[in-house]
Amino acid sequence: MKIIIVGAGIGGLTTALSLHKAGFEVHVYESSTEIKALGVGINFLPHAIRVLTNLGLLDELLKIGVETRELCYFNKFGQLIWQEPRGKFAGYIWPQLSVHRGALMMILLRAVKAAIGGGNVHTGHHLKSCISTKEKVAATFTTKGTDEIIAHVEGDVLIGADGIHSVVRRQFYPDEGIPKFSGIILHRGMSMGKPFLSGSSMIMAGSVDKKFIAYPISDEVDENGNQLINWIADLRVGPDGNILRDWNRTADKHKLLSEFSSWKFDWLNAPEIINGADAIYEFPMSDRDPLPRWSFDRITLLGDAAHPMYPIGSNGASQAILDAEILTASLMQNTDAIAALEEYQNIRLPQTTAIILQNRQMGPEQVMEIVAERAPDGFTDLYDVISREELEGIAARYKKIAGFEKEELNAKAK
Ligand SMILES: Cc1cc2nc3c(=O)[nH]c(=O)nc-3n(C[C@H](O)[C@H](O)[C@H](O)COP(=O)(O)OP(=O)(O)OC[C@H]3O[C@@H](n4cnc5c(N)ncnc54)[C@H](O)[C@@H]3O)c2cc1C
Repeated sequence: MKIIIVGAGIGGLTTALSLHKAGFEVHVYESSTEIKALGVGINFLPHAIRVLTNLGLLDELLKIGVETRELCYFNKFGQLIWQEPRGKFAGYIWPQLSVHRGALMMILLRAVKAAIGGGNVHTGHHLKSCISTKEKVAATFTTKGTDEIIAHVEGDVLIGADGIHSVVRRQFYPDEGIPKFSGIILHRGMSMGKPFLSGSSMIMAGSVDKKFIAYPISDEVDENGNQLINWIADLRVGPDGNILRDWNRTADKHKLLSEFSSWKFDWLNAPEIINGADAIYEFPMSDRDPLPRWSFDRITLLGDAAHPMYPIGSNGASQAILDAEILTASLMQNTDAIAALEEYQNIRLPQTTAIILQNRQMGPEQVMEIVAERAPDGFTDLYDVISREELEGIAARYKKIAGFEKEELNAKAK
């Protein structure tokens, strides 16, 4: 079976590797002329690391990344609200891992090229349109930004892994329009800094209107014991503050510094971290409404093309990786490609819909909202503000919805 994958992001490349391993003929088509090590840090949950482990990538990932030891939520005064161990430190078989997105992309790309052959990763091919009949699928590619057609390709299945602006999705939902803006701008950067807390903690401080997130993505980057720290600063700008969705758009450091100037805690100095970044990127926090359907005969959607969601709870890229596994299993179990794509959709669509909706309610970060609302000036005793049961309930519910409840996941060990 010949499978065409449109988009060489984390979703497309993982799917290519997974399908090749299962014996399918895979061709990847990417709009950019070169696949570069772009992005800043990204965090993967144990369920996604399980899939990448089964694809033989764990050792390489451990070399470039940092295992997340714990997740901690604080209020804007730096007071601790919630702390829980993560990944192997919480008893999972697989780690939770923070890496540089670009470094991960290069590992995936090398593995895909070695598996399917470099000549089958077609860069500079921007999908213009695709069409499915009951017998085959056909795709037309141009050079991005032009109408010049450079290739017509036929196959048995086409997977739209072409991100939040998916052309494949737009074909089936032409009236959907641009992604839904949350009113919040995410500022992303990487800075060298001394290890904080456990040295591999993921921290979030503040609440939805103004939040600072930080976690190390690389250890011992110099002789002074510094780490490379990935950070994200969220600021609410309101519905009129929407900006272009371009992952490489740079932002003004001084404005950000003035917003977070007082966020100096005894365990972390946010302005110092912000100031240490060479470049700061801004991206509007956006998603799209869940779809009723992803699969149309021999064409389906995957990753951000299928279910773009707010980057909350470390789920955006992790869910694209889970799609790859289920899509592969469905294609292996069904000789009829149309039935396979339907099965994949029927499993993954409801699961990811639940996460999109949960993330609109801030997912597990709800606890920060509750505390900010009930104790806007801080607290003396946290449990006067929120009970331990309430905190535990929110954390446990999200793990279940996002599919990384520990006992269920560990039971999948092969
Ligand atoms: C350049 C870049 C930087 C990013 N940086 C971060 C980051 O720092 N932190 C973070 O959390 N998330 C980041 N993300 C998003 C994150 O990688 C995704 O949300 C998640 O991994 C899901 O991946 P995906 O493969 O579904 O989509 P994406 O990662 O968006 O990949 C989609 C791919 O499809 C290609 N494409 C788009 N349209 C077409 C077309 N018509 N024809 C052919 N190819 C097409 C795109 O060029 C891209 O390579 C970034 C994404 C990109 C593209």
